Amino acid sequence: MELVHATLTQQRDAIARGDVSAVELTQAYLDRIAQHDPALGSYHEVFPERALKTAAAVDAGEITGPLAGVTLGVKDLFCTDYGTTTCSSKMLAGYRSPFTATAVQRLEDAGAVVLGKTVMDEFALGSSCETCAHGGARNPWDTDRVPGGSSGGSAAAMAGSLAAATLGTDTGGSIRQPAALCGVVGFKPSYGRVSRYGMVACASSLDQAGTFTRSVADAALLTKLMAGADANDNTCADRHVPEDLDAVDTPVPGLRIGLPKQYVLEGANHPAVQAAVDAACALYRDQGAELVEVDLPHTKYGIPAYYVQMTAELSSNLARYDGVHYGHRTDRPTTDPAELTALSREEGFGDEVKRRIMLGTYVLSGGYEQQYYDRALRVRRLIRNDFDAAFDAQGAGVHAILCPTTTGPAFKRGELIDDPLAMYLNDVYTVNVNLAGICGISLPAGTAQVDGSALPVGVQLIGPAFGEQTLLQVARQYEQHAGHTELRAPIG
Ligand code: GLN
Repeated sequence: MELVHATLTQQRDAIARGDVSAVELTQAYLDRIAQHDPALGSYHEVFPERALKTAAAVDAGEITGPLAGVTLGVKDLFCTDYGTTTCSSKMLAGYRSPFTATAVQRLEDAGAVVLGKTVMDEFALGSSCETCAHGGARNPWDTDRVPGGSSGGSAAAMAGSLAAATLGTDTGGSIRQPAALCGVVGFKPSYGRVSRYGMVACASSLDQAGTFTRSVADAALLTKLMAGADANDNTCADRHVPEDLDAVDTPVPGLRIGLPKQYVLEGANHPAVQAAVDAACALYRDQGAELVEVDLPHTKYGIPAYYVQMTAELSSNLARYDGVHYGHRTDRPTTDPAELTALSREEGFGDEVKRRIMLGTYVLSGGYEQQYYDRALRVRRLIRNDFDAAFDAQGAGVHAILCPTTTGPAFKRGELIDDPLAMYLNDVYTVNVNLAGICGISLPAGTAQVDGSALPVGVQLIGPAFGEQTLLQVARQYEQHAGHTELRAPIG
């Protein structure tokens, strides 16, 4: 069924017109999952019965709404009161949440059909989807390569047309990086735009829910439905959500695009990435936009500041997995509560999680907090100030900043897993957006030929805090003229 490759808006409209039933479409996706997911490993758990039941209720007119009958894959870090929520960790194997995350609930209330939970790097730590307790997702463009991470399962499922859209989270790049490596649209809204209630905490001041979609308009629609204040999360901003957030077709008058001089890393970018950014510049120039060089002088401190701040928050958040209240408990006999906790954590967490907990505990330890944690916080402020100055609406600020999403296309499985620093450098173009709390989107920008495979590359557009509407309009303009909307992974 060709419709499985269409945008979610097209699918919804086809259902509404009666061209196809929600059950038929849901079944088509379930069939594709059965056929392709053994090779891709993008789903951790699939809910065929529940999905078909919801779809049948849509067909019977019992469920209506702007997403009626649209299928969704959900990163296994969003709690759902059905199935399990494991964060791809042994620590949470079999964990059943008593409630559903606000973001998921709002989409289900709008009529979405949840197909299943997608695989991720354990506790959202990683850029390759290889740190999962079981298996790990693969890139549909070349299954020997990674889909990116940490929301790699969601990106792979989207690229393989195994859902009409998928949900991810982005703490340092975990939506935008896998979206770029899998050739789909990946959108991270501003910090506080979407409630974190029911999202298992990674680094609480950086985590944000977002989407993988086939189009910018789909991202806009899902964001509009998920966004807005939530009594269960007081860090979720009580800010007006523009009613026409999904009206992305209007070009921004007098468009100014910023090109950060610090984002041209000499020799670091794959030629296809540089070519994609150059082509995007040419496209906007042809559309009459003004291209302006912007100065983000603190860019280079982003990676160290991020890996201090995120590990500090992570080590605190993961302290709750003590083998008593939550998660895995050791079977080894002990009467000592401290030993029970130590053994449970040793068995339940994977290597990358342990590495981050140790880093985080170190940077928070007595005598070091000023040297590391406090300094990282100050750097974070400076990075935000850099962006604020670039976007400054009072002056001749830019509407959006254009840069790569990643330095290159997907790498091979196993290539970086033993080199944590190289893995962390994957986030060089994405982490500063999280540190600043602003919004960013990765858009498919063509393919690069690598060892006989065509592999997708992405470009990134960055917008100011709560500037989603303008950012998405600017992104739509690229999408409309760049000619990459038909990019399909070669899996049939
Ligand atoms: N790759 C980054 C990390 O490992 C991003 C993670 C994320 O955004 N969840 O920290």
